[in-house]
Amino acid sequence: MARSERSERKLDLTKPVTVWRSQDLVDGCETASLTMILRTVGCRWNRCTMCGYAGEGAPASAEDLVAQFENAMQRSSPEVGVVKIYTSGSFLDPQEMPVAARDEILRRLEAAGIRRLVIETRPEYVTDERVEACLSHLQTEFAVGLETSNDLIREHVIRKGFSFQDFVDASEAVHRQGGRVKAYLLLKPPLLSEGEAMRDAVASARAAREHAEILSLNLCNVQRNTVVERMWERGQFRPPWLWSALEILKSVPGPFVCDPVGAGTRRGPHNCGQCDSAIAEAIRAHALDQDVSAFDKLDCACKATWLDMMNLEENSFGTPLV
Ligand code: SF4
Ligand SMILES: [Zn+2]
Repeated sequence: MARSERSERKLDLTKPVTVWRSQDLVDGCETASLTMILRTVGCRWNRCTMCGYAGEGAPASAEDLVAQFENAMQRSSPEVGVVKIYTSGSFLDPQEMPVAARDEILRRLEAAGIRRLVIETRPEYVTDERVEACLSHLQTEFAVGLETSNDLIREHVIRKGFSFQDFVDASEAVHRQGGRVKAYLLLKPPLLSEGEAMRDAVASARAAREHAEILSLNLCNVQRNTVVERMWERGQFRPPWLWSALEILKSVPGPFVCDPVGAGTRRGPHNCGQCDSAIAEAIRAHALDQDVSAFDKLDCACKATWLDMMNLEENSFGTPLV
């Protein structure tokens, strides 16, 4: 028996990958949320240089997906107002989330009185019919991994396979029917120096702001079996500094949220090791209160190193240092 077959057999496809409770900003108010990651066949694109989600896919049927959803909803409670359903791919891709499962899940969310659903999708799966299918049940936020407003970086560095205009078209399709759009931006794509990545994130946030109700800054983690991991192993990639994230969040008006996943680890965004937890905590607090003034109270000796390193990179023809 092939190794992959053995591991697939061990997976219980009626259970979600994971589920957790947290707090989220909804229309300016802190609200209890439930996030679930459902195990689908995975992203059909599966080519982005920083994404390691491919390893999570398995052939889940429509019945399996509804069972995973039900299992995750056991963690819900009456105060939960937002449900986030992530699939490590696109909720609106019918090959990944069969229409029967999608509609059953939407019906059950509406029956449970959930105020808002957040789903992720690539723009090519956003159609009028699919947007309507969601919005006819409940307010929905369509989150798109735009990563950057720069088509060259998105195409040749991230290998995302869609253009800024594709994102704008999808956003307009959502807005025509009264839905909400969330744009994920990436700090920092491989091959960019820290300063270039910061400038790109700020420019992208300003451009995406025109087309999205909320922006989310994703701090690049080194995920397994990715191009970014191979570069990182060879000393050609350093995850972003947390100082850079603060500067970007300060530079663009909100709502602009960030969850610094893996902060302080070698594979995640990090500073010197001493100040990482305090800064990650401030970034998480900012996601709920949008108060950037709290960032000015943060300091550490490594801030000077971060600035020096960026100067050095600029003076070495933009070669990223690690
Ligand atoms: S980042 Fe998104 S679009 Fe790219 S491979 Fe991963 S799941 Fe697919
Ligand atoms: Zn520090």
